[in-house]
Amino acid sequence: MRTVGKKSEIWQYLIDSDRIVLTTHVRPDGDGIASELALYFILKDLGKDVYIVNQDSVPDVYSWLPMSEKIHSLRQHGSISIDPIDLSLLVDCSSSNRIGKVYDTIKGSRRILSLDHHEGSECFRDYCYIDTSASSVGELLYSIVPDIEKQLDRDLATCLYVSIMTDTGSFAYSNTTGKVFRIVSELIEYGLDPDRIYRLIYNRKRINHFRLLGRALELMETDESGKVISMILPTRIYQETGALEDDNEGILEVIRGLGDMELIILLRQLDDGNVKCSLRSMKSIDCSHLARLFNGGGHLKAAGFVTQGEVEEIGPRIVDRILREVKERGWV
Ligand code: 5GP
Ligand code: MN
Repeated sequence: MRTVGKKSEIWQYLIDSDRIVLTTHVRPDGDGIASELALYFILKDLGKDVYIVNQDSVPDVYSWLPMSEKIHSLRQHGSISIDPIDLSLLVDCSSSNRIGKVYDTIKGSRRILSLDHHEGSECFRDYCYIDTSASSVGELLYSIVPDIEKQLDRDLATCLYVSIMTDTGSFAYSNTTGKVFRIVSELIEYGLDPDRIYRLIYNRKRINHFRLLGRALELMETDESGKVISMILPTRIYQETGALEDDNEGILEVIRGLGDMELIILLRQLDDGNVKCSLRSMKSIDCSHLARLFNGGGHLKAAGFVTQGEVEEIGPRIVDRILREVKERGWV
């Protein structure tokens, strides 16, 4: 566990700025989107001029979040000019290559800071607060913002809850600490409906997701130990099932149910022609280390990277490289 920077200092930078741009990583997840919106509420309440600019659109499963329509996606809405920018803050990531094209929008900012909880994250430009013991950026915000209870209302509580819930796998992963439950028990007092929130995020899948899942399960392979599962999903199964990028959501969760599994390697082709690898581990395999071999990153038990190429061509080589590393380190 590692902490870089100070809570009070990152908060002071925000307080001292008037026009603030928030951004998160490409292909944003629940933590990225919901923590941006939480900060939007917090900073707006303090009278700041706040913009949220992301490269990619808000995934449909998060579009019901309060004020999500304020998020400017460069892909969806085109470029945006904000000038001058006092401070830009990267949330849930810490590098210019993770935010994609947004860097062009914010590079002239007087200050650029990051607020992150990923293993291996380095401080980005002017200042950062990184705490790898936090489950999510939502949890970080809860402890950074002084007297947050004075600002809490149902909308802010919802965003913080979604950030924490999605990054803890609905309070199931090893980052689900007593602190997480203490925070959530306070948030719930603001009239949240956990059942409704869960259904809005996880139970609205398209039939194409299940068709894709069926095909993906047939392509599951194991190494000789039976503990490493790999899946290389060729482009044709997306064409055949009509599945789109968002339909991948949840495939990994199904495979996590396999009793003997220690590592999952999922490889698929992205719409932009790159290959995406997602890694998940159950026990002692360090996914973040494995992802960093390919210039990616993440957490101990969940990490990923993006690389160029055709998944069917480079997929088997990537799996071999990961298997070699895992064996050399005695992890299986
Ligand atoms: P997922 O597999 O769900 O996309 O990502 C799992 C974790 O790995 C997340 O914490 C995410 O931030 C990290 N991750 C995924 N892809 C990349 C990547 O291309 N680069 C970096 N640095 N981290 C990634
Ligand atoms: Mn996160």
